[in-house]
Amino acid sequence: MADIIDGKAFAATVREKVATHVARLKEEHGITPGLAVVLVGEDPASEVYVRNKGRQTVECGMNSFEHKLPADTPEADLLALIDQLNNDPAVHGILCQLPVPDHIDEATVINAIAPEKDVDGFHISNVGLLATGQKAMVPCTPLGCLMMLRDRHGSLSGMDAVVVGRSNIVGKPMAQLLLKDSCTVTIAHSRTKNIEEVCKRADILVAAVGRPEMITGDWVKPGATVIDVGINRIPAPERGEGKMRLVGDVEFASVSAVAGAITPVPGGVGPMTIAVLLANTVTACCRMNGLAEPEGLTA
Ligand code: NDP
Repeated sequence: MADIIDGKAFAATVREKVATHVARLKEEHGITPGLAVVLVGEDPASEVYVRNKGRQTVECGMNSFEHKLPADTPEADLLALIDQLNNDPAVHGILCQLPVPDHIDEATVINAIAPEKDVDGFHISNVGLLATGQKAMVPCTPLGCLMMLRDRHGSLSGMDAVVVGRSNIVGKPMAQLLLKDSCTVTIAHSRTKNIEEVCKRADILVAAVGRPEMITGDWVKPGATVIDVGINRIPAPERGEGKMRLVGDVEFASVSAVAGAITPVPGGVGPMTIAVLLANTVTACCRMNGLAEPEGLTA
């Protein structure tokens, strides 16, 4: 039976490190890191995320600035707000909650954020910096996966890593991070041939697909470390009519019988994402002020 990687506990230790570093920044330098989150529209799931981000930001001792704009906000008004936040010295991290309404161009918004304040790591400059092995702001979910992998293995050098999924927010940056840590990296996607065989080569298997329980035990090398990024809601009639439950992209029962370690869903990668967002905000603040970055919280 695989070891269960407890993302909830790991995220709590990341938040503790963030809080410690924030306290030091305040005490020694009189600086309080600040995170601005912008939400356009009233998507209920996004509202929950934004609320959680704000609460955890404050719990770590940082300033949280929330900007809620109506769904019909013109793109120009959103860009004007981002410009104002870019120029606000109290703001060290800016995040625009995605998705934005259809009349707003996502890429334009992302690339309007000052790269040094881009705590989501989606700005084209940060993508390029990561791809060329330079100091970047790194997307939160893959950075959280990397932290858990380093914690389990120490050095990842020479390991065979397979990332299933090639999205800009998870799959591609995850592959870049594993490459930076000297893994031999394969990216699999919907057109990959013999995907089971490809996955079976992996010492590290990261699933970021969005297909419930796609990866089963017979796809996995015995002893491999399996990181399940997927969050899928499926019907759970056993819990009552109309009830749903969360599953990952990995079939937990069969894979945990083969793998050496596995992240569960829920309670694996999910809790890490906001914790890393807080870490990225502290990192951005330190870089902006020419101060030492928090140890173990960056790529
Ligand atoms: P996307 O839909 O953007 O990308 C999915 C990727 O999976 C694509 O590259 C696609 O390939 C690939 N894919 C789809 N079907 C198959 C298949 N049958 N075989 C192999 N590859 C396939 O998703 P995201 O990257 O945004 O998210 C992936 C999952 O992670 C989702 O469940 C999402 O909810 C979850 N997620 C979780 C987060 C967390 O905090 N834990 C944060 C972000 C996402 P192709 O490019 O060829 O179409």
